[in-house]
Amino acid sequence: MKRTHHCNELRPAHAGQTVTLTGWVHSRRDLGGVIFIDVRDREGRTQTVFDPSDLPADLFKQAEHLRSEFVVAVTGKVRPRPEGTTNSKIATGEVEVMVTKLEVLNAAEPLPFQIDDPEAAAKVAEETRLKYRYLDLRRPEIAKNLRLRSKVATASRVFFDEQGFLEVETPILFKSTPEGAREFIVPNRREPGTFYALPQSPQQFKQILMVAGVEKYYQLARCFRDEDQRADRQLEFTQVDIEMSFIEREDIYALIEGLLKRVWKVALNLDIPTPFKRISFEEALNRYGIDKPDTRFGMELVDFTEEFRASSFKVFSGAVANGGVVKALNAKGLASATQGQIETMTEYAKGFGAKGLAFIKVENGEWKSPIVKFFSDAEKAALTSKLKIEEGDLILFAADQWLTACEILGKIRLYAADVLKTQGKLTIDPNRFDFLWVVEFPLLGFDREQNRWYSSHHPFTAPVAADIPLLKTDPKKVHGQHYDIVVNGVELGGGSIRIHQPDVQKTIFEELLQIPPDMVQARFGYMLEAFKYGAPPHGGIALGFDRLIAILCKTPSIRDVIAFPKTAKGTCLMTESPGTVDPKQLRDAYLELKLPKKPPGDSAGNVPPKA
Ligand code: ASP
Repeated sequence: MKRTHHCNELRPAHAGQTVTLTGWVHSRRDLGGVIFIDVRDREGRTQTVFDPSDLPADLFKQAEHLRSEFVVAVTGKVRPRPEGTTNSKIATGEVEVMVTKLEVLNAAEPLPFQIDDPEAAAKVAEETRLKYRYLDLRRPEIAKNLRLRSKVATASRVFFDEQGFLEVETPILFKSTPEGAREFIVPNRREPGTFYALPQSPQQFKQILMVAGVEKYYQLARCFRDEDQRADRQLEFTQVDIEMSFIEREDIYALIEGLLKRVWKVALNLDIPTPFKRISFEEALNRYGIDKPDTRFGMELVDFTEEFRASSFKVFSGAVANGGVVKALNAKGLASATQGQIETMTEYAKGFGAKGLAFIKVENGEWKSPIVKFFSDAEKAALTSKLKIEEGDLILFAADQWLTACEILGKIRLYAADVLKTQGKLTIDPNRFDFLWVVEFPLLGFDREQNRWYSSHHPFTAPVAADIPLLKTDPKKVHGQHYDIVVNGVELGGGSIRIHQPDVQKTIFEELLQIPPDMVQARFGYMLEAFKYGAPPHGGIALGFDRLIAILCKTPSIRDVIAFPKTAKGTCLMTESPGTVDPKQLRDAYLELKLPKKPPGDSAGNVPPKA
């Protein structure tokens, strides 16, 4: 009973042929004594018919016992469906198979949730779907995501091969270099007290591969970061990781534009225009209040610092006197915002340290706001003309240090857009993709609490050559040769041209980042040494592969595009991982547990991994 066709193959032209199909019982209907079974495999489904008037009694009896998700092989003759019974929703909807032979390859118990109805399945709690992930993955709606993922991975590999790249695997057991995110650590029983760490990315290895003369490296690399989970984060994830020698920023832009053009064509049959637009970090913040702007809608931030410098509204003029700025945005048509929505936006502002949120509702020809009475006519006129204020608008303000004011309104802008979308006042074409390079990032940021500089990207990013003299005199003015690729407000990836001179790298580590020399030696000594033996100029980038696929699948959650994702708490509900280990395993690793009195685990006693 080997299959002759898959379940998405039969058409009217096959009528009269005897075929064998294998797969799962997708659905069963009993009508007027006849049993209809839709048999489903990976490719699709086909209706099969058990007609008692044509069949030996024992075969029909067997058919009566079939239940959802039994695994079967059926043989029978293809015929066109009778008039009026065709199903235009499925590709095989014009035919059916009149069964003459049935083999039950395996039975299935009653399912924990129904998988043949997409609407019903979408309502099932995600925990249940993740616990029975193998059933969830049988659903065509999820299965198609894995298929697309595989297709995009293959297309990317072909693309890189054409461009002369080598795919090189790098170690999963690495060592701790706690510069970025929190790491997962692995005890080494061979040398008690020492640990491997799982790589946050293959960054150091790929740079070493450049020193090793590989010139063009890529990898679909697994990365591990022990970070708090958000909708678009997982503890382990995949990056399309790239590094090249003897290149400049422009080469990376062109490469990635070529890759994404190919991927969008293969995945969605869309031709995306290249080259992509570019925007500086500063302009992105000034206009959109975020370094990964969604440019599919307007509602840009507008600066009013000059207009309010001498205002009698002290909240604004005071902020300017303190070296800050006044910015505003017009949430078009949102004067109807509810008290709850205004509170949400106010909380966002407070989250950035603001005392509150100033706003004006433009309703019934009036500006409704307690602050308006402080505004002069000139200030009001400036607001009206620069923000194009009309009836029904909601104007929101931020008066603070530049970055904070931008970030407050940036967050509010996205929230306002979401509200407008649900109200049907803002629509965005689902096939619109606004790609953007964000460039000219500052090399360093300043951590006030720790009173020290930190790398805005990572410590291997090269400063813009012209800015190198400023490293010692005015570090905050130094730009990095760093770039991010953004689409529709999602950061798809980022990278940089690297430092390849050991002395510059050492200055960055020791003088700017103030990592003590012995620590630099312990963590990065091998890299500094490698760079002494002829390191070529090089640079690279990494794209978040899960995020890329989620965008192509048009799903907001990367869990939908990962075969076996973890929950927000970092657990795999199917395998019940993480779990405890035997005392012997601990002894072998020379480890002893010191558990908190009340473990911060879930009800199943699963303690989250500790760093
Ligand atoms: N390794 C970097 C990251 O994971 C990307 C890069 O600089 O190539 O963000």
